[in-house]
Amino acid sequence: MLIVTEDVCKQVIGRDDAFVAVESVFAAMARGDAYNFPVIREAIGYADALYGFKSGFDKAGLSLGLKSGGYWPGNMEKGLTNHQSTIFLFDPDTGQLKALVGGNYLTAVRTAASSSVSIAHLARKDASVIGMIGAGHQSTFQLRAAAEQRQFEKVVAWNFHPDMLGNLEKTATEIGLPFEAVDREQLGAQADVIISITSAHEPQLMKEWVKPGTHIACMGTDTKGKQEIDPALIAASTVFTDEIEQSITIGETQHAIASGLISSSDITTLGEVINKTHPGRTSDDEITLFDGTGVGLQDLAVASTAARLAEEQGKAQVVEL
Ligand code: NAD
Repeated sequence: MLIVTEDVCKQVIGRDDAFVAVESVFAAMARGDAYNFPVIREAIGYADALYGFKSGFDKAGLSLGLKSGGYWPGNMEKGLTNHQSTIFLFDPDTGQLKALVGGNYLTAVRTAASSSVSIAHLARKDASVIGMIGAGHQSTFQLRAAAEQRQFEKVVAWNFHPDMLGNLEKTATEIGLPFEAVDREQLGAQADVIISITSAHEPQLMKEWVKPGTHIACMGTDTKGKQEIDPALIAASTVFTDEIEQSITIGETQHAIASGLISSSDITTLGEVINKTHPGRTSDDEITLFDGTGVGLQDLAVASTAARLAEEQGKAQVVEL
């Protein structure tokens, strides 16, 4: 059995590896070769924590396992990340535990890979301005990964807590892109690609602010009640997601579905676009919207890659069970 620590994950997994792992598993899901099991998420009544499991099986990539973890709001005071997770991989032929892999860094990397895969397949080729809504822990991973998908010339950003925007400005500077803090109307008017990655519970981006042809990756809404996008904007967009069931229950489309503005048959999986069974964007004026809810198979995909690379590079600890 292998143990792959958070530090080792950072050493062995790059953005390219995560992109390939996530794109492959989205394609496998759309072919019916990989499926997620029902998600469990519970308030445990201790330390204000939310704890749960995301699990699944990818028959094509032979990843079987689960991500276990959740949200501990008091962790910041202890110098720890509030989100904590560990990924368990099992041998699909025997059921034996194959690897324990740190899940915190991998969560950020696989979430960034998800929006990146959507940008690669759905954004206009000539997209030149990227707009960021949100400036927390995930946002810099998002920006770095997205910046590799198009020849962006500028970053525009808005955050509910303006003092946090320095994180994004520093990242933009490191990757050589000019950075401008703007209001949300300006962000919509300028951006060709918009990523939203906040913990908001009400719309942060309204339909009338967004120009035709924009691609929007909504990455923050992963729980019932959270919301980042005006439901009218969702109704005006061609909507894609990682998994339709998650999108309509805990993802960004839950509100447009509940108010009857769209139905689940209006939503296409990104895997279908990757597999070329759906054309994806069909015009330069179309607004495309990707609801990245975050599925367990993404975690298993990047963790399997991390375990393989760590073993090949002699960086995994090997223990007898
Ligand atoms: P964080 O706590 O570091 O940052 C939170 C962000 O939300 C900040 O930009 C903050 O200013 C903003 N925010 C907080 N309250 C707000 C409000 N009332 N209105 C508008 N914005 C507000 O969190 P993070 O780790 O960067 O995660 C951001 C979100 O992404 C969370 O909701 C998290 O659950 C979600 N997430 C989704 C996935 C996925 O796969 N889709 C994966 C990881 C995290």
